[in-house]
Amino acid sequence: MNNINDTGTDAGRWLAVETRDSRADGEFFYAVKTTGIFCRPSCSARRPLRENVLFFTDPQAAKAAGFRPCKRCQPDRVAPELRRTERIAQACRILEASPEPLKLESLAAQVAMSPFHFHRLFKSVTGLTPNAWQKALRARRLREQLAKGETVTRAAFDAGFQSGSNYYRQADEALGMTASQFRKGGGDASIRFVVGTCGLGEYLVAESARGICAILLGNSPEALISELETLFPRAVLTADDPAFARRVALVVSFLEHPVRQFDLPLDIQGTAFQQQVWQALRAIPPGETLSYRAIAEQIGKPKAVRAVAGACAANRLAVIIPCHRVVRTDGALSGYRWGVERKQQLLTLEAAQRKR
Ligand SMILES: [Zn+2]
Repeated sequence: MNNINDTGTDAGRWLAVETRDSRADGEFFYAVKTTGIFCRPSCSARRPLRENVLFFTDPQAAKAAGFRPCKRCQPDRVAPELRRTERIAQACRILEASPEPLKLESLAAQVAMSPFHFHRLFKSVTGLTPNAWQKALRARRLREQLAKGETVTRAAFDAGFQSGSNYYRQADEALGMTASQFRKGGGDASIRFVVGTCGLGEYLVAESARGICAILLGNSPEALISELETLFPRAVLTADDPAFARRVALVVSFLEHPVRQFDLPLDIQGTAFQQQVWQALRAIPPGETLSYRAIAEQIGKPKAVRAVAGACAANRLAVIIPCHRVVRTDGALSGYRWGVERKQQLLTLEAAQRKR
């Protein structure tokens, strides 16, 4: 299998030329002695004979050796898509180096683009708006600083949170728990849970201080509890809380009637990408399905089909985040974290309830 690292050797470079490997574009250029022309590895021109080929690391060197750039692949120009992506990468590096949040206008100006085009391009390359990207960056820095043992105030400051009245609230929001809880390794985050039986089989519903944090389905209570322990390894788990049991009744009623409105607070924790996928899932009406590909397109990352499937598999809130409404492009049910039969059961149930 051809690998981009191979372009460090002439044999690897020749393989890239033979396979017109566009991943090697920019890594090197090849010149053809018989025509006097040099090309990118991916050029669609007729392949030369190996014995007539010379390799160069940059267009200048090829020109200096007396070769002319090919008109078809224009090896002396930066490929436009590469240039676009590079500008966004550059913007990300500027953001990473900046001690404080940057405004869209100033960021766009630094990579010589209009704010409008920059915003659109940034989103299409990273899947996030510049603001959301900066938010995720601050959260990551905050976690790193806290893990190093910094004080909460110092860590939040170093991570680029703006001081002010909502300083701590912003930091808590970014972490999904209070900073001091986080520093203790989330150890004092306590989670209550209830296990029971509903129309879909065994269920486990769990709640953190912020809201419902897990709804799991399965065939054995023991397996569900061990799943919960795996999901929240540092939390203190408590069973059988009477006040919580009443809220669980609402959850169970929703599991059996997914077309109803659900309005208990949720504690949804995940990466920015997962959150984006889960939001898109929640927009699919009950009884309807979308393909993984359609979701990927909807969130502006058409190539991220497998990552979308991964985010569906990482869902902790069965039915509430309706990953059962995602199917393969050909309509096949594909997988379901809680069993394909249960997925079919849910879709049938929803379709029936919608008709009423
Ligand atoms: Zn060419």
